Amino acid sequence: MDPIGFQTHDHAHCIENSLGVADQTCRENGLQLTAVRRRVLEILLQKHCAMGAYEVLDQLRSEGMGSQPPVAYRALDFLVSHGFAHRIERLNAFVACAHPGQQHAPCFLICTSCSAVVEAPGRPAAEALGISARELGFEIERVAIEAEGKCPRCQEKVNA
Ligand SMILES: [Zn+2]
Ligand SMILES: [Zn+2]
Ligand SMILES: [Zn+2]
Repeated sequence: MDPIGFQTHDHAHCIENSLGVADQTCRENGLQLTAVRRRVLEILLQKHCAMGAYEVLDQLRSEGMGSQPPVAYRALDFLVSHGFAHRIERLNAFVACAHPGQQHAPCFLICTSCSAVVEAPGRPAAEALGISARELGFEIERVAIEAEGKCPRCQEKVNA
């Protein structure tokens, strides 16, 4: 799948594709994509932006799907642990995975003006980090690569 990048694209297709991959992956691996878990993924997929757990909870509550924080947290945990979503440490928020079903070391480009988040292939950066860590005898358990800056659209706005 091509990276979505910051370009405008057929986002309805994008949502449909991600939900389809989640449905299929869960079916193949005997995982339960419950109504709440699926709806939380759908909520995260609405925009390519990171969302806090409380924003997700607010939406669930307004739809009558649960009003207790653990409902949202447990669904987010499930989505993150199975690779359907990622946690953005820098923002303490969650974003739907742009390449579900693929093994990857995600790297996030976060626009500080419009809060767009793009998941870029992070493998080269993760590999370089792995080499440095090994040289120092460090065993990496988890890597988070996140960059903040301006997306192409926001750069244009500044220069206009
Ligand atoms: Zn999209
Ligand atoms: Zn991903
Ligand atoms: Zn932006």
